[in-house]
Amino acid sequence: MQMPDDLPDLSLSENAELVLRKRYVRKGPEGEEMETPQELFWRVAAAIAASETAYEQTPFSQEALARRFYDLMASCRFFPNSPTLMNAGTELGQLAACFVLPVGDSMEEIFDAIKYAALIHKSGGGTGFSFSRLRAADSRVGSTGGVASGPISFLRIFNTATEQVKQGGTRRGANMGILRVDHPDILEFIRVKEREGELNNFNLSVALTEDFMRRVEADAEYPLIAPQSEKEVGRLRAREVFTLLVQKAWESGDPGIIFLDRINRDNPTPQLGDIEATNPCGEQPLLPYEACNLGSINLSRFADAPAQELDWEGLRESVHLAVRFLDNVIDASVYPLPQITDQVKRNRKIGLGIMGWADLLYQLRIAYDSRQALSLGEKVMDFIQKEARSASKDLARERGPFPAYADSVFGKQNLGPYRNATTTTIAPTGTLSILAGCSSGIEPLFALSFVREVMDGERLVETNPIFRQAMEEAGCASQRLLDEVARKGTVRDMELVPDDMRNVFVTAMDIDGEAHLRMQAAFQKYTDNAVSKTVNLPHEATQEDIRHIYWLAYEQGCKGVTVYRDGCKSVQVLSTEESR
Ligand code: UDP
Repeated sequence: MQMPDDLPDLSLSENAELVLRKRYVRKGPEGEEMETPQELFWRVAAAIAASETAYEQTPFSQEALARRFYDLMASCRFFPNSPTLMNAGTELGQLAACFVLPVGDSMEEIFDAIKYAALIHKSGGGTGFSFSRLRAADSRVGSTGGVASGPISFLRIFNTATEQVKQGGTRRGANMGILRVDHPDILEFIRVKEREGELNNFNLSVALTEDFMRRVEADAEYPLIAPQSEKEVGRLRAREVFTLLVQKAWESGDPGIIFLDRINRDNPTPQLGDIEATNPCGEQPLLPYEACNLGSINLSRFADAPAQELDWEGLRESVHLAVRFLDNVIDASVYPLPQITDQVKRNRKIGLGIMGWADLLYQLRIAYDSRQALSLGEKVMDFIQKEARSASKDLARERGPFPAYADSVFGKQNLGPYRNATTTTIAPTGTLSILAGCSSGIEPLFALSFVREVMDGERLVETNPIFRQAMEEAGCASQRLLDEVARKGTVRDMELVPDDMRNVFVTAMDIDGEAHLRMQAAFQKYTDNAVSKTVNLPHEATQEDIRHIYWLAYEQGCKGVTVYRDGCKSVQVLSTEESR
């Protein structure tokens, strides 16, 4: 579709344009830019609107829809995940960010998974794997009479393979490795990242079961089960393993934990099998060979600051359009394997989420660590979830329900047909939030002014514009103040700033771990899939603090937790000048 010449301009910041040019704009053989940012958004909008032609019934002409999609992105109200921006309307055409691949207990299956992961990484997607089906180290190998090397040694091969495949020349493959807590090699798995740099292309998570959590509570032993025979091969004290998990998370942030039974309780299509893994950042549980494309609404664009309210009507409209966008992405995407195409098209999962939450709270002058913020979070996500489901129902009327609907939990309970087995996910929005110029996901601002290291050590300096404006309005935006903010990152203890402002303009490090976790739980309540969130803790946090957070996450219905204690790793993505 020809790009119309009356499209509205983009509202991108300088940093956003830099990132767009460096990572998203199509390049020629010499690395020259083949499109402008405006052409890029039109390429994506037109390619995704073109999916519409496959359906007889549609309320939009193709061009009208492409224009709407373009507006949604050009105004930074919504962005699809990075692979869609990079690859829509190009030859590669792989548009999803999240994949889960099965790892079976045979040489063929293990090395197939490595090959498949390489293909996915090349196309810009991230992969999650469960290693729980692999037999333990030192157990017998039937065909050779030798001994097995176990999941951890295979993990190293996956890690090395990833190292060698740069994702389409733009990002290195991200991976999630998961092991069930009752796998015989679990202790080695929990300890594997003790050496810095080990498995650097993997996030690791231990899959905890309800049974295990009950035994932690009762201080009981639990059985280790050999994957092939399903026989008990040893016992561990649940509380000791839990303590070790806490200790390792305190030392390095790795591994995280996921609550596997809870994830499966929310599996909308249990007839197709159990969920055993999530994508790399944990927000998207998926079946083996399933992929999911994500998209995020920038809430800060829906603030009606003078009325201290949200533009609910505008939000509703954007959610409906975004759901149509994401459903079309499924048809427009070219998946790297036929098994993946089949699985994706059976369930048609999409993951609509948000970014700019902390900015919205700043705009409305609500403190992140307040009750008011928690209840607004619930209200916003409840609204988005309801509207996203209603949009998915509308699509089911036009296009039919997802093919696995009849035997899904929705079909069985007669809940009315949906086009998508899941509709909501809260992604980290690591790069999307830079493009949109907003805070990432539901995270608080890391600092009011900070240096962001992106892409091969390049440094971007950012001062939060809402804070700056508030200081100007309050008449206290002196150079001295701004310099001090740039140095410290926070205003919590700054006398130059009025009290009420100090409470509102809080940053990740001002907020205690419990407030981080409660925000995650508030959003999880109204999210089909999971919520990406890092519970940031100060350097002085104790192991007891982490144990408390883990337990709270369990009680509050979270699907997993990732904690990060400031300064516990030598390379950090975000830092203030003082912590550098
Ligand atoms: N992801 C990846 N490699 C990366 C960053 C992200 O494979 O370097 C995948 C991964 O599955 C992650 C998902 O993309 O969970 C979403 O991450 P994020 O929201 O940060 O991506 P963005 O769309 O902002 O680039």
